[in-house]
Order: sequence, then C-alpha cells, then structure tokens
Amino acid sequence: MPKNLSTIAKTKKIKYFLISFVDLFGVLRSKLVPAQAIGDMQKNGAGFAGFATWLDMTPADTDMFAIPDPDSLIQLPWNKEVGWLASDLFMDGKPVKASPRVMLKHQIKQLSKKNLVMKSGVECEYFLINQDGSGIADTRDIQSKPCYDQSALMRRYDLIKEICDSMIELGWSPYQNDHEDANGQFEMNWDFSDCLKTADRHTFFKFMVKTLAEKHGLRATFMPKPFQNLTGNGCHAHISLWNGKTNKFLDNGDRFGLSHLAYNFLGGIMKNAESLSVFFNPTINSYRRINAPPTKSGASWSPSSISYSGNNRTHMIRIPDAGRFELRLMDGSANPYLLQAGVIAAGLYGLNNKSDPGEPLTCNMYTDYKNYPNLAKLPDDLEESLEKLDENKDIKDSFGNEVINSYVKLKREEIKDFYQDEVFDKEKPVTEWEKDNTLDC
Ligand SMILES: [Mg+2]
Repeated sequence: MPKNLSTIAKTKKIKYFLISFVDLFGVLRSKLVPAQAIGDMQKNGAGFAGFATWLDMTPADTDMFAIPDPDSLIQLPWNKEVGWLASDLFMDGKPVKASPRVMLKHQIKQLSKKNLVMKSGVECEYFLINQDGSGIADTRDIQSKPCYDQSALMRRYDLIKEICDSMIELGWSPYQNDHEDANGQFEMNWDFSDCLKTADRHTFFKFMVKTLAEKHGLRATFMPKPFQNLTGNGCHAHISLWNGKTNKFLDNGDRFGLSHLAYNFLGGIMKNAESLSVFFNPTINSYRRINAPPTKSGASWSPSSISYSGNNRTHMIRIPDAGRFELRLMDGSANPYLLQAGVIAAGLYGLNNKSDPGEPLTCNMYTDYKNYPNLAKLPDDLEESLEKLDENKDIKDSFGNEVINSYVKLKREEIKDFYQDEVFDKEKPVTEWEKDNTLDC
C-alpha cells in the first residue's frame, strides 16, 4: 500500500505540498498544492504544460501530469508547513520517456534484471557569492591555497550549521563539512544510498542550499566554473553495485579491493565517457572546468583525459577504497537523475561487453599528460560532447533513440541561442550568457 499523503499531512501538520520534477536541463519545477487537494493529486498528478519547461514537447500537446512519489516526501526543515515531493511525469496515461526521473528508473530496471542495485553518493561543491554573481561573498577569503581554511569556514558557521542540522533531522547522516579548494567554495557530505534516493536528495540539497543561503543574505551557486582563475564546482560520485546486503564490487583479494564485475562496470564508463560527458557536464560553462589550465590554488581538480588510478585524484576515476570507485567527471550543473542514469547505462555496457579498463595509471596526470598522447581526451566543448552522444549507438539503444534525440535537439537549440551573441573561449572571462543561464543551475 502506498503511503497516503492526506493522512500524512494531518499527522505531520503539512499545509502545502510542492509537487516537483526536474526537466531535461535540470531545472526544478513545482506546483504548490494545499493539503486538502493532495489526495486527488496523489492519484491523478498535478497538471503542467510540458512545452513551458525544457522537455521536447509542443504547445499543442495535451496536459502532462506529475505523479508524486510518496516515498520521496521531505518536510522542509526550515518551514515544516511544506512537504516536498519528487514526481514522475505522465502524458496520456503513459510515462514521459524523455524525462530525467523516468530515464533513471528505466536504467534501474535494466540493472535489476541482473539482480543488481546501484548505490551512490555525491559530493556537491558550491560557491557563496555576492548577489550579482560578480565575486565571492567573503572578501577576506583571498588565500592562494584556501582549502580547509578554518576561519573562512567558521565565518559561514550559521549557514553551514543550518544546512547540516537539516540533513541530520532528515536522516541523511551527514558526516563532514569543509571549505574547498577555491575561495568562497564549500562542500558538505552525507551518506550514500540507492541511486534513486541519492538523485532525489541531490535535487533537494541544491534547493535547500540555495534557499538557506538566501535566508542568510547570501547567494549559492553550483555553476561549474563561475570564476576563471578559481577551481570549479565538481560533483564527484562514488559508485558501487549491490545484491541485497552484498557489495558486488568488493574483492579483498584484489590490489584495490575491486571485483571483476567492478572493473567491467568501470571499463564501460571509460569506454562511454566521451558520449556521456554531456550528462555529467551538461552546460556550455562546464567545458571551462574540463581540460582547464591549473588554477590559483595549483590544481584544477578536474580531469582532461580518460584514465583511472588507485587513490590518485588526478585521474578521471579514482579508487579511494575497497568496494567502490569515484567518478570525478561530473560538475555542479549535472542533472541529478541523468548523472545516475548515465553511470548505469555506461556501466551496464561494460558488464554486457566485459569491458576491460586496462592497467591503471599511477602518474600525476595534471603534469604528466604529455607522456600519454594516446589516451582518449574528454570533449572540449558542449557541441563536441553532444556529437559524441549522438554517434553512440549503444547508449542510444540503452535510453531509446527518441529519448536521446529529444535531449540532443533541445541542447542544440541552447547552443544556437548562446552563439547568437557570444563566443566560447576558455581564455576569455565567463560570458554574461553563461552567468544568466548557469548561476542558478
Ligand atoms: Mg571536493
């Protein structure tokens, strides 16, 4: 029996529900529904005009309905009258295939045919900036190596504490908060979970950080590279596959503690990294972070080539510990659902084709990349990234041709819009278009 939201509203004293969904460009859309109407909405969904969002629809299409998932309910810790719900999109009674949460559920289902579940955790980095986005908020935060700076962290204690307290209250088991490698940049970590739950929490986390920053007179941004000379916002993901309570990635007999299955999954991600970088790095601004020159702090902390290693952060994939690996490609603009869906699709390819990732590299890739001219490079801009996705028959088959075509079509329109007035040049400062369209991603 699914949870009854009307009953929950009474017991938890929820007056309003946000029935939300994330569109293909990662924008969080909602309707605010009073509790007395939630019974009907739970059954039939909240109506939206799909064309008005970033979904491949026309103004002539029938209504689209967002049917909330009661298991995703989060009572806003800072405003208990409101309950947030992730939802799945339906049209004419059928799931909207080219919508992110439905795309992730499709991949989860494919993986479940092998009796496997993907668990993941994400490390969301963000900047606290001034209102117009022209600089960081803390003008005293100017060290050239500001990572883990205690004073700069504690000047933001009130905000960080409120976000962390909220995660404790919600049962996410947060365990650390720090100042990151760029001036004005922070990261907060909570426990890994099943990938759908992580995607829902990732979506809510971004909403929560932006909302609470506003409450404290600040502005938060997850934009991949808001400032040319500073390290960008990554969103590294830690990945493992499970069968019940057994971690199928764990093999204590291996030098890094990974099983054959894990290496095949990892191999699939390496094989498809170029094509899927558009899901992991989906904005024009993303490609200022990838293949970037070293920053003021000494390292960009983002990959440029497709390589893996043991516990070495200069490679695209790092194995920090037995039983999991970390994919360091994603940035702050990654759509939380497509991030997870992309990992499963690529990993499944690896399982089905027994992909061999080859020998790991142990070098410092930031300085030694010239010694590895034959390594595949990550795409240099969004256009190239889209082309790679468009050419990848395996990934198209995995998601469905129509789904990928819809995504590519919308993204190409976005690129066209950018080039009307701008030119993408990594040597030049971040454009106004990028700021207008990415600061609130
Ligand atoms: Mg980090």
